Amino acid sequence: MSAGLAAMRTYDFDLITIGAGSGGVRASRLAGGYGARTAIVEQSRVGGTCVMRGCVPKKLLVYGAHVAEELEDARGFGWSITEADFNWPALITAKNRELERLEAIYERILRENRVQLIRGSGRLVDAHTVEADGQRVTAERILIACGGWPSTPEIPGIEHVISSNEALDLMSLPKRLVIVGGGYIGVEFAGIFNALGVEVTQVIRAGAVLRGFDDDVRECVTHDMEQRGVRLIRESEVRSIEKTGEGYTLRIAGSDTLLETDLVMYATGRAPNTAGLGLAEAGVAVTETGAVVVDEWNRSSVESVFALGDCTDRVQLTPVAIAEGRAFAETFFHDNPMTVDYRAIPSAVFSQPPVATVGLSEAEARRRGAIDVYVSRFKPLKHTLSGREETTLVKLVVDAESQLVLGCHMVGPDAPEIVQGLAIALKCGATKADFDATVGIHPTAAEEFVTLRDKRPDHPARAAE
Ligand code: NDP
Repeated sequence: MSAGLAAMRTYDFDLITIGAGSGGVRASRLAGGYGARTAIVEQSRVGGTCVMRGCVPKKLLVYGAHVAEELEDARGFGWSITEADFNWPALITAKNRELERLEAIYERILRENRVQLIRGSGRLVDAHTVEADGQRVTAERILIACGGWPSTPEIPGIEHVISSNEALDLMSLPKRLVIVGGGYIGVEFAGIFNALGVEVTQVIRAGAVLRGFDDDVRECVTHDMEQRGVRLIRESEVRSIEKTGEGYTLRIAGSDTLLETDLVMYATGRAPNTAGLGLAEAGVAVTETGAVVVDEWNRSSVESVFALGDCTDRVQLTPVAIAEGRAFAETFFHDNPMTVDYRAIPSAVFSQPPVATVGLSEAEARRRGAIDVYVSRFKPLKHTLSGREETTLVKLVVDAESQLVLGCHMVGPDAPEIVQGLAIALKCGATKADFDATVGIHPTAAEEFVTLRDKRPDHPARAAE
């Protein structure tokens, strides 16, 4: 220990983190709190993607969009709302005010944990040195937590498109919007803009949105999105984008279809933000996509350089980056070795209605062995009066032999709030009998998870997958 301390004292800091997003801030503030001399380098706003350009502002817009649904449903409950006027700039201003408040909180947390904030863009000079806008600082350990950035295919006219970054700050709402990509971001933003009255067309490569999710979930969300007015162009890719006067014309590959629109948004995945960081020069191994290769301790191919969050090729979710940040700080600055368990990570898509899931999809589970599947699709009580033609889906995937619940899936109001609790049950190794022995809360949609009685008969096509 004393030899280690002696070594540490030859550096300016014990830890320098590049990137003040969710993962970087968690690691740095814990390390700082444990007494490590810590600095964090950030070129943009403290808070990173989740707080400044992702989860938080997006969810605030989802709340704003959701009011449209409440207004529509209100009539069934006796309300007559004749004048409802929506003001997009007012929502954006309110959202921005909240982001400023959060940024100040993040900066305060860093200060309180004695983490020095260095403004500028960080670059690795060698295994112990970081350069931030001309200033060189050294550290015993360097943590790369620079996150990801929207990635777009190289097609003619791609320079005309916006990403979710710009979509969160539009000056005004377009009349027509084309969204390319059917993943988390495409689906969430289609829901927001569609609810706010924009004519949304979404171009997806697959037959349904949300590839990788359970097939019943995909089918249900895809149906609900179309029912609510999103025009989906399936199994298609955009070949080119042309500026035409005030708007754009999109050509679809392999077809004569031309799409006229006022704005084009791409949500075709995010790539590690590692270009220009000097990783290769410092000997840090990266994948073809630029992700830092790390081991279970977040250590890169260089012993003193670590990485976590979206710039590694693992799970691109804020709570995962936070868990990695905590594990890193506990291991190296609190003498409490800790790794992250990547099994049964719950996630949600804040579509309209939302999706939440934890564990294996039916197809994934089926590849591992025999399973029992329980599905219920029902009209939520609220919609008996609202008149909304939308069903809620709940689904359990159960190991046929052990009866362990392998996956829980839901599409419907409050799904993310409900599935968070179920994720604990899965972590605890709950069986179907444990679910059945749990008393429901009535009347809720959540109680369906503990009252699923009938196995779905095996469909020959599904069993063959
Ligand atoms: P996703 O990986 O979720 O989805 C990308 C979508 O773009 C897919 O539909 C994919 O199609 C399509 N696509 C990829 N490349 C092309 C291409 N060249 N041409 C046309 N379509 C293409 O990425 P997102 O950008 O939606 O989100 C990035 C990540 O951010 C997510 O993976 C998620 O981890 C995280 N995130 C999480 C959220 C949450 O937790 N609620 C919210 C937002 C983001 P195909 O299916 O055919 O491959």
